[in-house]
Amino acid sequence: MKTIKGISASPGIAIGSVFLYLDESLKIPNYDIPESQISFEFARFEEARKQAEDEILALKQRTVIEKKVEEGKFLDSHLLMLSDPELLDRVNENMLTHQKNAEWVLFQVMEAYTRKLEAVNDQYLRERVIDFLDISKRIMNHLMYRERISLADLEKEVVLVTHDLLPSDALQMNKRMIKGIAMDAGGKTSHTAILARSFEIPAVLGLSNIVKYVRTGDDIIIDGNRGQVIVQPDKETLAQYLKIMHLWQKREIDLLTLNELPAETRDGKTIELKANIEVLEELESVKSHGADGIGLFRSEYLFLQYGGLYSEDRQYEYYSKVLKGMKDKPVTIRTLDVGGDKVIPDVEGFDERNPILGWRAVRFCLARPDIFKTQLKALLRASVYGNLRIMFPMISGIEELNNVLDVYHDVRDECKRDGIPFKEDIPIGSMLEVPSAALTADILARKVNFFSIGTNDLIQYTIAVDRGNERIAYLYEPFHPGVIRLIKMIVEGAHAHGIPVGMCGEMAGDPLASVILLGLGLDEYSMSPFGIPEIKSIIRSISMTEAEELVGIIMDMRSHEEIEIFLKKWMNERFELLSY
Ligand code: PEP
Ligand code: MG
Repeated sequence: MKTIKGISASPGIAIGSVFLYLDESLKIPNYDIPESQISFEFARFEEARKQAEDEILALKQRTVIEKKVEEGKFLDSHLLMLSDPELLDRVNENMLTHQKNAEWVLFQVMEAYTRKLEAVNDQYLRERVIDFLDISKRIMNHLMYRERISLADLEKEVVLVTHDLLPSDALQMNKRMIKGIAMDAGGKTSHTAILARSFEIPAVLGLSNIVKYVRTGDDIIIDGNRGQVIVQPDKETLAQYLKIMHLWQKREIDLLTLNELPAETRDGKTIELKANIEVLEELESVKSHGADGIGLFRSEYLFLQYGGLYSEDRQYEYYSKVLKGMKDKPVTIRTLDVGGDKVIPDVEGFDERNPILGWRAVRFCLARPDIFKTQLKALLRASVYGNLRIMFPMISGIEELNNVLDVYHDVRDECKRDGIPFKEDIPIGSMLEVPSAALTADILARKVNFFSIGTNDLIQYTIAVDRGNERIAYLYEPFHPGVIRLIKMIVEGAHAHGIPVGMCGEMAGDPLASVILLGLGLDEYSMSPFGIPEIKSIIRSISMTEAEELVGIIMDMRSHEEIEIFLKKWMNERFELLSY
C-alpha cells in the first residue's frame, strides 16, 4: 500500500482499478526494421502522410461550407508542408540510416526540424514550428492508429491515472466510465479540475509522479476530500473507505431535500445560488441540484469540444438550447475565454512565451472581431428564447471594457438594421478577475449591470501564482488577506453604484469560504452544480449579523494561515462539512 498526497481537486471518494493513460510522446514505439523491409515501412509512412493530407482537404472543404475561408487559410501552408520534398527525403534518409520504424523516425525528424526552426531569429519561421508540429502530429496519429487508446472509447469503469490531461481531452472522455482521476500535473483551479467537479468525478491533482507508481489494473482509492491517493490499499483501509464513501453518498442525497427551498439566511437575506457549466449535458445536473440559474456558462468549451471555430448558426442553436432548457431562469453566458491553457486548435497565434499573461479572453476577441462579432450576434439572436445575461472575461480596465461594449453595441445596431429580433434589455456584466479591475471596480461599475468575481484568475494574478502549476500550488491561497481585501473592494465598488456582485470562481463553492463571502456582501454564488446544496444548507443556518461579525474578526488578521486556522475551527464548531 502506498499513500500519495496531492491537491484535492474534486471532492468525493472513488474506489476502482487503474487505467494508466500516458501521453503519446511518452510511448512512441521504437523497433528495428530489417533492410529488406525499409521500402514497406516508407510506404506505411507515405500512406499516413496521404491520410493526413485528405484530412486537411476535408477541413478546408468545411471552411468553404461554413464561409470561413479566411480563417482556414493556414490549411494551405499545412498542405504545402505535407508535400515538401525535404520532409519526405529526411524521413527516407533517416529510415535508411537508422533502420527504425516510421513513428520513431518521424519523431526524430520532428525534433531536429523543430530545434532548427526555433534557432532561427525570424518570427515568421519560428511560427512555422507550430505548423510543422501540427502536421507531424497528424501523420503520427495515423501511423499509430491501432495503438492509440481513446478516452472516449472506454468501455469499463476505471480510475484514470495520467500525467496531464488537456481540457479538450477531459471533455472528450467517456465520463460514465471514469470513476476518479489522479493526475501528476494541475492545481485546484486548473481547467481539468473544474471539469472534474462539473462531471462529479472525484479527483486528486498535483501528484507529481504518480504515473511511476501504478500500473493498469492496480487497485486504487481516490480521496478527493483530503487530496490523497492510495495505491494497492490493504483490506482495512479499503473497508474504512467503503464506509466513508457510503456516508458521503447518503449525506449528498439528504442535502438534496433542500432543493425547493431558497438560500435564505436566518435573518431573511436571500442569496442566489447558481451553477457553472461548460457543456449542455450538464443542464440535468443544474436542475437536479436546485440551482437558481446559470451564473457562468464557459462558452469556449463549445469550441474546444469541437476543436475549431463554430459558425454563427451553430452557436445560435446551442445557446438557444441552453436558454430554452433553463426556461425563464437567468443564464449568464460568458463570451469566449480562450488562450492560456484553452487553445482552439484551428486558430493560430496562441503559441506564446507567457500565455497566462498573454492573448486571452477579450484581448483575443478584440483582436479577432470576426470571431467576437459572430458570437455576439449568435447570442443576441438566441436571447429571445430565455433570460440571457452576457458577461465579458478578463476585463483589466475601463478602456478595455469600453472597447468591448463598443463592439457589442455595433453588433446590436447591425441586428437592428437587418431586422433580426433580440431582447432589448439583456443585462451586461463584467468578470472581475484581474487585480487592476478589482482596484478600479467603482469605475467599472458605472458601465455594467452586474459583476462576477472570477477568483480562479484573481488569486492567480494577485499572488502571481500559476493556478495550474502543482509546484507552487501551496501559494495559491484564497484566504490571503490581499485577496480578501480585493473582494471587499469589488463588493463595495459595485454596491456604491447599485449593481449586484456574484462570484463564479471556485472559491464560491468552497464551504469554508461561504460565511465570509456572505459577510462581505456577495449577492450571488455560482459553482459546480453539486456544490449548491451544501452551500445552501450553510447559508440557511446562519444570519447576516453572524457572517458580518466573522468578517470583522478576519479583516484584522495578518496571514492566510491565521485566517484559515481560525475559520476551520469556527466552521467546524457550527457545521458538519461535507468536503472537509
Ligand atoms: C475564474 O477565473 O475564476 C473563472 C471563473 O474563470 P475561468 O476559471 O474559466 O478562468
Ligand atoms: Mg477566469
